Amino acid sequence: MDLSFILNELGEDRENYFNAVSPPIMQSTNFAFKTIADLRVAMANEFEASLYSRGQNPTLTILRKKLAALDGAEDALLFNSGIGAISVTILSLLKTGDHVITVKDPYSWTGKLFNDFLFKFGIAATFIDGSDFSNFENAVKPETRLIYLESPNTFTYQLQDLKKVAAFAKSRSIITMIDNSYCTPLYQQPIKMGIDLVAQSATKYIGGHSDVVAGVITGSTVLIKQIFDNEFMNLGPALSPHSAWLLLRGLRTLPLRLQRSFESTTIVTQWLAAHEEVEKVLWPFSPGFEQDELAHEQMQGCGGLFSFILKNSSLEKIEAFCDHLKHILIAVSWGGHESLVVPAIASMNAAEYDINNEAHQLIRMYIGLEDPQYLITDLQQALA
Ligand SMILES: *Cc1c(COP(=O)(O)O)cnc(C)c1O
Repeated sequence: MDLSFILNELGEDRENYFNAVSPPIMQSTNFAFKTIADLRVAMANEFEASLYSRGQNPTLTILRKKLAALDGAEDALLFNSGIGAISVTILSLLKTGDHVITVKDPYSWTGKLFNDFLFKFGIAATFIDGSDFSNFENAVKPETRLIYLESPNTFTYQLQDLKKVAAFAKSRSIITMIDNSYCTPLYQQPIKMGIDLVAQSATKYIGGHSDVVAGVITGSTVLIKQIFDNEFMNLGPALSPHSAWLLLRGLRTLPLRLQRSFESTTIVTQWLAAHEEVEKVLWPFSPGFEQDELAHEQMQGCGGLFSFILKNSSLEKIEAFCDHLKHILIAVSWGGHESLVVPAIASMNAAEYDINNEAHQLIRMYIGLEDPQYLITDLQQALA
C-alpha cells in the first residue's frame, strides 16, 4: 500500500461526514441501533462495532486502519498511553507461572512492569543483553511465553537482530513483542521480520507536537482481538476521540518530520563527535557505532534521539552544560517539534554519581524540527 494513500485516504469515509477533509471528532460515548437485531450483532462482536467508546469509536477506527497499514499488520489497538499499550498487552499474554525474556534496558516503566508488577502475579522475567543472540538461547525455559524487545532502546541504542530472534521464538512457539517507538514503521517494520506484536508510544513521533499522550499495538487479528475482548475492555485504557484526532493530524506530516529529525541529527551528531569537549556519541547511524552493520540492515533511517558523553564529565560539568542551553529545553519525552536534553544525572544525586560509570555520564538529546545550525550554536555556547 502506498504511504501517501495510507496517510491521506485509508479509512476516511468522507461522504459519511459532509465530505469534510479533516475527519470529525466523534465525541459520542454510545451509538444507537435501528433494531434489537442490529444491537445484538454489535454486542456479539464489539471488536468490529461502534457500540460504546470504551471499545471502538469511528474517529479511532480511521486511525486504527492507518496505523495497522503502516506496520503491515492485520489490525491495531489504540490506548491512552504508550505504557498502557505495553502493560495491557503483556498482562493479556501472560499468566501465573509464565516466564518472559526481556532486553535489559527497556523503557523505564516497562522495566518496572517486569520487575515489580508482574512479580506480584508470579510471572518471572529474565533481563538479558539482547545485542548478543546467544543470550536468548541461554535464557529460554520451558515456561517462556514471551520475548520482549526494544531495538534500539532509547538511552544506549542497543539493537537486537530482529529476524534471528523472531525465527528462534517461532521455533519454540514463543510470542515476540517489540517497542518500536524509536524508529516508527517508517524506519523499521518488525512484523515483516517475523515479530508478532509491535508497540509504539504514539506520544512521540506519531503525535509529533508534544500535545497528546497515546499508544498503539499492532499485530495479527487473532492476537489483537484477544487483547481487546479481554484485558482491554476490562482495564479500560481507551484513547479519547479528541486525542485520536490529534494523532491523525500528526500522521499527515510524519514522513516530513521524521526525515527532518533524522537529517538534522546526522548533522548535529557529526558536529558533536568532532568537538574537543566530547568523549563519544551514541547513535545507531553514527560512523563507528558498535552495531552499525545491523542498524543499516534492519533500519531504513534513524530517530532523532541520541546520547553523548563529555570528556572528564563530573556531575557538576554535565549539569552546568545542560543549564547553559538557551534554546534546547531540559525536559523528558521526545518526538515533538522541539529539541530536548535529559542527562542520566537527573535521576541521581552527587553521592550516587560514579564518574567511571558510563551509564551515569550519558546526556540524552533529542533533535526536533529547528534549523540544525541554530541548535549547534546553542550547543557550542553551552560547551564553552
Ligand atoms: C515514552 C516511551 C514509552 C511510554 O509511552 P507513554 O506514551 O509515555 O506512555 C514507551 N517506550 C518508549 C521507548 C518511550 O520513549
